[in-house]
Amino acid sequence: MATEHFVIVGGGQAAVQAIQTLRQNKFDGRITLVGEENYLPYQRPPLSKKYLTGNLERDRLFLRPLTFYEKNCVSVELGIRAKQLDPDLRHLTLDDGRTLHYDRMLLATGSRVRRLGVPGADLLGIHYVRTMVDADAILSSMETGSRLVVVGAGYIGLEVAAISALRGLEVTILEAVDRVMARVVCPEVSQFYLDYHTRANVEIRCNTVVSRFIGGERVEAVEISDGQRFPCDLVIVGIGVVPEVGLAADAGIACKNGILVDEFARTEDYKILAAGDCTNHPSRLLGKHVRLESVQNAIDQAKTASMTHLGMLEPYAVTPWFWSDQYDLKLQIAGLSEGHEQVVIRGTPSKSPFTVFYLRSGQLLAVNAINSPKDFLIGKKLISAKTPVHAELLADEKIDLTSLIDN
Ligand SMILES: Cc1cc2nc3c(=O)[nH]c(=O)nc-3n(C[C@H](O)[C@H](O)[C@H](O)COP(=O)(O)OP(=O)(O)OC[C@H]3O[C@@H](n4cnc5c(N)ncnc54)[C@H](O)[C@@H]3O)c2cc1C
Repeated sequence: MATEHFVIVGGGQAAVQAIQTLRQNKFDGRITLVGEENYLPYQRPPLSKKYLTGNLERDRLFLRPLTFYEKNCVSVELGIRAKQLDPDLRHLTLDDGRTLHYDRMLLATGSRVRRLGVPGADLLGIHYVRTMVDADAILSSMETGSRLVVVGAGYIGLEVAAISALRGLEVTILEAVDRVMARVVCPEVSQFYLDYHTRANVEIRCNTVVSRFIGGERVEAVEISDGQRFPCDLVIVGIGVVPEVGLAADAGIACKNGILVDEFARTEDYKILAAGDCTNHPSRLLGKHVRLESVQNAIDQAKTASMTHLGMLEPYAVTPWFWSDQYDLKLQIAGLSEGHEQVVIRGTPSKSPFTVFYLRSGQLLAVNAINSPKDFLIGKKLISAKTPVHAELLADEKIDLTSLIDN
């Protein structure tokens, strides 16, 4: 059907993948991409990593050049927010007043940063890292010797802290819970990263809750709940994201910690698909719904959504994976450790590389590989294949892990 109109809302990782998969699989209808940012879709991971060194050119961030969209006959509407969706009429209203009619829609609206709602939160010099504009603003205020307070010791906070320390800033991280990356790694990995940052002169304060920001026009200090103050020139807040579901929820589409989709990326309205950070989908691995914030999820779920549109139903059942770069450490994570009963460490955490395996009933749920890409790949395969594994074998460095994979 040459006139079929596929509209993608959101111009990020999932959107680009959807265009590619649709066209590679001979979709010959019209495609329109509506993105509220002023830029063609770009990669976000470097924004808290290499881009902040100042040595990565902005052009390198773009996922595809303009010619990709031209060759694939995509109408690209940038700097435009989709503001209202009418599923009955299949109308999408844009903030410039236009209304688009769609035959199928993909919601790829991503997520937005969770804001810290304390007094002084609007002072100048307080930054978040989600967009290229955010990263450029941080880059232009990173001066050697200036004092940076990072709020939150998750991936983003730790990555930004690492780059800043390498660039000669004085860095303090304030974390509300008792350890770093607590949501995703075991205490041994948290301790390893805490020690590594400490050796790089980054001060990490756990169990520390920010109560307000102090300053005239610009932030001058961060105050914590016991009244102690941390003087600063710059603050970067990394306390997580929330799925961007407003458009869907306002249209009456079921949302619960994300837009609810099935394993084929369909919302309850089959004319509306959704993929990426904005969704909450059924995980075969965990036997429940999950919301993931990763490049892998955006890419793989967008592929599923596109194939669903083309009538080739392929359930989304990929083992999740993620990475984080801090200093010379590459942390690669596969699977989800939730519900694990046993932690097995291969190697010695004080001396990277090392790998942590999370098991339940003799089955591998997740792997954290620190500078050990081979263990990551093998771990990912074992998780996907649900191969039973013995803890002693995983821990024994004399055993080649490849031998554990069923051939
Ligand atoms: C600093 C940073 C570092 C990261 N590091 C890693 C990493 O190391 N590894 C990893 O796997 N993942 C990482 N991630 C996460 C990864 O980038 C995201 O999971 C991925 O970008 C999600 O893709 P997406 O297409 O779902 O959403 P996004 O890339 O967020 O794109 C969504 C787009 O939709 C637009 N939009 C939203 N609502 C509307 C609307 N109503 N109308 C029009 N446009 C709209 C948004 O403005 C945005 O441009 C990182 C993210 C950040 C911010």
